[in-house]
Amino acid sequence: MSRRIGRLTAVSALALACLVAPGSAAVATACAGENTSTGGAFADGGELSPAKAEAAQRKLKTGTPRIGQVSIPVHFHVISDGAKGAVSIQRLSKQVDVLNQTFSGTGFAFTAASATSYDRADLFYDQSLTSPPGAREIAMKKAMRKGGVRDLNIYTVQTDESALGWATFPWDYKENPQLDGVILNHDVLPGGAFVGLSTGKIGTHEVGHWLGLLHTFQGVGCEPPGDYVDDTPAQDTASRGGCPTSQDSCPSPGDDPIHNHMDYTNDLCRTMFTPGQVTRMQQAWNAFRA
Ligand SMILES: [Zn+2]
Repeated sequence: MSRRIGRLTAVSALALACLVAPGSAAVATACAGENTSTGGAFADGGELSPAKAEAAQRKLKTGTPRIGQVSIPVHFHVISDGAKGAVSIQRLSKQVDVLNQTFSGTGFAFTAASATSYDRADLFYDQSLTSPPGAREIAMKKAMRKGGVRDLNIYTVQTDESALGWATFPWDYKENPQLDGVILNHDVLPGGAFVGLSTGKIGTHEVGHWLGLLHTFQGVGCEPPGDYVDDTPAQDTASRGGCPTSQDSCPSPGDDPIHNHMDYTNDLCRTMFTPGQVTRMQQAWNAFRA
């Protein structure tokens, strides 16, 4: 059975005191006037077990980094209860823009390929979609999913605040292709209601998983291999503050990567992928989606 990952949890939603430009690959942007409160952070209930991470790593190592640009078609499936959750085309377009901004320089670009609306209150409010994949999720995706292994399918629904989104890993595609994709709460797309978490970067975080990235705090404590990326400093636990001034949870060199897209800080705080993460995404693409 394919494993869901990247289950996001809103902690709270205080307004941010910092404003940063949209991140680009491998460029850290300082978060001036950072909010050190706990607001605007999220958590993820879908941590990958060390054994699963190691198994994925063995498969991924066979892939060499890809050179050149990959264009990824994006298929949106907007599930709503009438007008509630009926995300506009403009917001979907902005989500694609945010993906292109945040993945700039990684070799991956995104193109809006389709958007389909479903007035389905039964699915829109179905909280079973936020638990391990069940029959209803499988049936839903089987009916709606478009394209093949290279196509990104994004489903928007009304999750409760304990689960704002999740994604499948690329190494799960072969076994369960129908489950492949990202599910997002409609309010984390640009212009949504979650203050601090609705600029589209929850989408970036989830697509990072879809392309093979783990959390920067993956694994057990500060011990290697962590997230299997050499240039992300060891991180014991997820950041809980909205955008902490600094955080250093491990004795090894380097502060915690609080500005990394794969940590748990708020949207404006997460601004970068490292070169090592870019290499890992390209390796994963070659190994599982090329
Ligand atoms: Zn995650």
